[in-house]
Amino acid sequence: MDNAACSTPSGPTATVCDECGSQFLSSSSKMASLCPDCSHHLYGYDNCEHMFVRDHCIRCGWDGSRSKYLAKLIGAKPEKP
Ligand SMILES: [Zn+2]
Ligand SMILES: [Zn+2]
Repeated sequence: MDNAACSTPSGPTATVCDECGSQFLSSSSKMASLCPDCSHHLYGYDNCEHMFVRDHCIRCGWDGSRSKYLAKLIGAKPEKP
């Protein structure tokens, strides 16, 4: 799930999360290499109040991906295979 180089969303400064592989807006996360969702569940930072439009959050850019590790950690099913 590492597509850092090949797909860029139309938003500003998109980064790829190290944990879930989703793109996110670096300005929306406390951590440079983790999306707000992962940094929240892994490190307890404030999560984004995700607001999904089509297939990604318009606030942080997260696309709903969760790593298997994180999905297990929070008891959710992975949304993508
Ligand atoms: Zn993430
Ligand atoms: Zn969000």
